[in-house]
Amino acid sequence: MSQEVPKSALDLDEILRRGGANVGDEDFAFAGCPGCGRVFLFEGEADALYLDPHDLGRRHLPAAAAPDLGPCPSCGERVGYRSAATWAEVARSAWVWAVRADAWPRGLRPGPPGRAAP
Ligand SMILES: [Zn+2]
Repeated sequence: MSQEVPKSALDLDEILRRGGANVGDEDFAFAGCPGCGRVFLFEGEADALYLDPHDLGRRHLPAAAAPDLGPCPSCGERVGYRSAATWAEVARSAWVWAVRADAWPRGLRPGPPGRAAP
């Protein structure tokens, strides 16, 4: 399944609770590396790329009018503004917490560690 995760699936309250606020009117989405599939959180008001799902203070801010969001820390591929992440990529990532529990498509929501998804 290669369907992109819509912005509406993101848990804005939880992202803000974990310190994800920027300048207000936050507009979050997932971004995916086209090279290796690494998942980032992206905030479109400040153009901030959140690099670490465990530390939302780790952000990359591209230069004004930059053509993309910068190089992927894992593989060096340029991450584009429209490089959306898919459900499968997010499910494999450590960003699972940033998706509302009721937003996961049937069968894709990751189960607790060590248990197979139903
Ligand atoms: Zn990459």
